[in-house]
Amino acid sequence: MESLETRFWSKVDRSGECWLWTDAPSSNGYGYVKVDGKRRRAHRVAWELTNGPIPKGKGYHGTCVLHRCDVRLCVNPAHLFLGTNAENIADRETKGRGWMPRYRGADCAWAKITEAQVVEIRAASGPQTAISARFGISQQQVSRIRAGKRWAHQSPSLNTSAAAPNKEATQ
Ligand SMILES: [Zn+2]
Repeated sequence: MESLETRFWSKVDRSGECWLWTDAPSSNGYGYVKVDGKRRRAHRVAWELTNGPIPKGKGYHGTCVLHRCDVRLCVNPAHLFLGTNAENIADRETKGRGWMPRYRGADCAWAKITEAQVVEIRAASGPQTAISARFGISQQQVSRIRAGKRWAHQSPSLNTSAAAPNKEATQ
């Protein structure tokens, strides 16, 4: 049987600096590959084929495989690096793309907080543990959001009195 490695790299166009995944890109711009019956993002598989299993990473957000080149279909291991979600955000901001709506590292389980929810979290009263449970994020995250560290780029003039509709129903 053909190894995953052989099968994988046979679907990659390595003619340019970015090695492009040529098999069935999905609508979100990432390439996907079936591994043991599971659909996986091609760039993550490329990283693993080169470096071994992706370390799990701390907390709920885990570890992302990010692109230096910003080409989602690119699976060149030299263009991929590991990062946390926080790094992903910082990286985005450095590159001037701002925050929402899409994360390049959206394969992290992280992108679950909307801007409206940040406003809600800041406006919410009660213990942080209750807020963290309500929004499904860590208490540390609540603390950071409320302290404005992570979301410092958000406009301070954002109207916190306009209560956002309850997102929980739509999540
Ligand atoms: Zn690339």
